[in-house]
Amino acid sequence: MDRSLRERLTELYRRLLRVYGPQNWWPIDPEYHRRHGSDPREEIVIGAILTQNTSWRNAERAIENLKRAGALSLKGVRELPAERLGELVKPAGFFRRKVAYLREVAQKLDPIDVVEKIDREQLFRIRGIGRETADVILLYAGGRPFFVVDSYTKRIVFRTFGVKGGYEELRRWFEGNLPPDVELYREFHALLDEHAKRRCLRNPLCGGCPVEELCGFPSGNP
Ligand code: SF4
Repeated sequence: MDRSLRERLTELYRRLLRVYGPQNWWPIDPEYHRRHGSDPREEIVIGAILTQNTSWRNAERAIENLKRAGALSLKGVRELPAERLGELVKPAGFFRRKVAYLREVAQKLDPIDVVEKIDREQLFRIRGIGRETADVILLYAGGRPFFVVDSYTKRIVFRTFGVKGGYEELRRWFEGNLPPDVELYREFHALLDEHAKRRCLRNPLCGGCPVEELCGFPSGNP
């Protein structure tokens, strides 16, 4: 990426932050964990599994059920009977598969401090953890500078900069062109998602878009 493109990427971040404000992603409920003596990072790991192949809204409904059952922790996931766990996470869809994945991560990421040092490749060996889920866990639970790429991210960088690629290419593209700053990565990923949901839709609302002048899409020249 040349210097001007790097500057445009940084400017994209600044403008999204100015327009949408800090997203403070990943959402967790510190009060719940304070009351139950659990670690908020466990909620991030559980949420990362529950949101696979579904909207965050559906994942949230499952998280609320786990909270009501006092089981929003890796210990809770391990100890609940599978049938009961399945009932609670049903709103997130694919519930049988997600029960199996939750059980697996609850075994393998115990104690949760392991997220601070585990290799990315080791995470891939845990059933239910692919690239995006691994990077969510590393970035948001582990506090480590891995950029999370999803379909919204792909859409925006293609339209804005004409950059296209698979997961690893795009992750490296971001990491190669931004400082290794965990807070920046957390916020930028969330802002891209917000922008994709509000404006950079499948049929984008380019007129008046806050990053229109940085974006090549309206002129057909990314
Ligand atoms: S100008 Fe259009 S394509 Fe570019 S970021 Fe904004 S909404 Fe998306």
